[in-house]
Amino acid sequence: MNAREILSKAFKEHYAIGAFNACNIETLKAIINAAKKFQSPVLIEASDGEANYIGKKELAALIRIYRQEYGVPIILNLDHGVSFDSCKEAIESGFDYVHFDGSKLPFDENLSIATEVVKLAHQHNVLVEGEIDHIEGSSADHTKEDPKSYQDASHYTDPEQAKEFVEKTGVDTFASFVGNLHGLYAEELHLNLDILKKIRQAIPNTFLSLHGGSGINDDEVKEAIKTGITKVNVNSEMRVTFKNTLQKTLNENSDVAFYKLSKEAIEATQSVVEKKIELFGSRNKV
Ligand SMILES: [Zn+2]
Repeated sequence: MNAREILSKAFKEHYAIGAFNACNIETLKAIINAAKKFQSPVLIEASDGEANYIGKKELAALIRIYRQEYGVPIILNLDHGVSFDSCKEAIESGFDYVHFDGSKLPFDENLSIATEVVKLAHQHNVLVEGEIDHIEGSSADHTKEDPKSYQDASHYTDPEQAKEFVEKTGVDTFASFVGNLHGLYAEELHLNLDILKKIRQAIPNTFLSLHGGSGINDDEVKEAIKTGITKVNVNSEMRVTFKNTLQKTLNENSDVAFYKLSKEAIEATQSVVEKKIELFGSRNKV
C-alpha cells in the first residue's frame, strides 16, 4: 500500500496513523517493533535535523528494508521541512511524504512555496502536508512551564483560511492548530474540537493531522480522530522516555557495549509507541 492508500483506509475506517519521530537506529527499532507486534501501519518521520543525523538517503534505504522484512505498511515523512530545498532533497531521497512548514512565513509566501512543493512531490507520487498557523512549543520537556502561555486562541486555525490554502496549493494533508502544542507539559492539554469540526467541514476531502500528540487528553484525542484526524504526531514522550531510561542504564552499568546498554531504552520507547497505537485505533489494521 502506498501512503495515500494507507491514510485513505484510516480515514474511511475512523482511526489514525501514529506519526513517530526517529532520530537514530534505536528509536527506529522501537517504532518498527511496536508496529510489527501490534500489526499496525505507522508513519515514521524525521525533521531535517533528525533525518540528516542518519542521512536522508540512508534513512529511506533503511525504511525500504524494514518494510520488506517486517511486512507492515510504513510511510516515511520529512517532519516540519522548512524550505523548498529540504523538501526536494527528501523527495529525491525516496521519502513518501513531506510536511512543508511555512507557518512562520507570511501567508502568501507560504502558499507559493507550498504550491511548488506539491507540484514536485506529486510528480514523484509523494504526499504533502501544509501548515499555516505556527503550532507552538517544541519537542522537549516543558513540564515546568504553563501550557496556557502557548495556547493563544487568536492564533488557532481559521477554517476559511485553511480552505483557501488547501484549494490554492493542493496539499494532501492539513496540520491544524486547535490548542495542540509540541512538547510534554505538567498538565494535559485540551483541544478546541469545535474549531476542528469547522475545519473538517471546510476541507472535507483533505487528510487532517494533529501535531503535539504527546500531552493531549486521551478522550479528546479519540474525539479528534472521530472528527476526522488521520495522523497524530508523537515525539516528546518518546524522547523523554528514551533519554531517561538510557541515563538510568548508563548510571547503573559499567558495561561499554552500547548494543546491550540501549536495549532497555528501546523497549521503554516501544511501550510508548504501543500505547499510542492502541489510543489511535490502528492496532490490527495491517
Ligand atoms: Zn509538529
